[in-house]
Amino acid sequence: MSRLDIYKSCTLCPRRCGIDRTAKKGFCGADSTLRIARYSRHYWEEPPISGENGSGTVFFCSCSLKCVFCQNFVISHGQTGYEITTDELAEVFLQLQQKGANNINLVTPTHYLPHILDALDIVKNDLTIPVVYNCGGYESVETIEMLKGYVDIFLPDMKYFDRSLSYEYSRAADYFDTALKAVKKMVDIVGSPVFDDKGLLKSGVIVRHLVLPNERHDSINVIKALGENFNSDEILLSLMSQFTPTEQCKDIEKLSRRTTTFEYESVMKVVEELGFSGYFQQRTSAKSEYIPEFFNNKKVTN
Ligand code: SF4
Repeated sequence: MSRLDIYKSCTLCPRRCGIDRTAKKGFCGADSTLRIARYSRHYWEEPPISGENGSGTVFFCSCSLKCVFCQNFVISHGQTGYEITTDELAEVFLQLQQKGANNINLVTPTHYLPHILDALDIVKNDLTIPVVYNCGGYESVETIEMLKGYVDIFLPDMKYFDRSLSYEYSRAADYFDTALKAVKKMVDIVGSPVFDDKGLLKSGVIVRHLVLPNERHDSINVIKALGENFNSDEILLSLMSQFTPTEQCKDIEKLSRRTTTFEYESVMKVVEELGFSGYFQQRTSAKSEYIPEFFNNKKVTN
């Protein structure tokens, strides 16, 4: 049996559509044809991921979460992107390594996992840099289990605590409980953070949280829940502030402005009180120009 047979009755993410993706698209918008929208070195991830040489990002098209405020809307909801084969994806990994990328950073990869694992098998004897799994946190434990031996660093979001909020923005009322179980599995697989002598992350979990406008209380609940479920040395925390109102959320009153300094710092204070190590973002980086350009055909960037 080929791994690609998983697409014939897809339960890769917690939506568990169970549909045949060789015949139609799932909730995520993906069928069984592998599509990406960009690969390049990326310099705006957390410092131990990007370092000086950049992180070797591969942006996959479609998304099983589809947040209304998504900053990469054109690829998560839209049609931007192009088809590639498993062999070409394997070649992309090696090209990024050759250009000096610190790691291979798989961005929103879950719905294409069968292709990605096949590509990683092809390069297993040549790829020497860590593999980063950069996802929205809404993952099933069974799928995360499949990553054992393939992924060194997990970079999940923990977006919401409140069920009605996660339903309102991502149509996933079970977001928090599901993401918490997934992050626990990630910590089980890769353990506490380990750095190399240049300060780059070799393995571990960085949990990201984006502080949304008007939702600081929910953000504080997320951070407190992480404090109740993880020791401060088990995970790193990355508190992000770069929410930018996109065209798609202009009619949602609560999302029509940026996060304020007060909102961001209220959450930061709780992170510090709980003793988590991590990364805080300068609010000046909350600009739409940090959203990368995506492509409809193969384009070599850097
Ligand atoms: S990956 Fe897509 S098709 Fe598969 S269960 Fe999730 S949303 Fe459905």
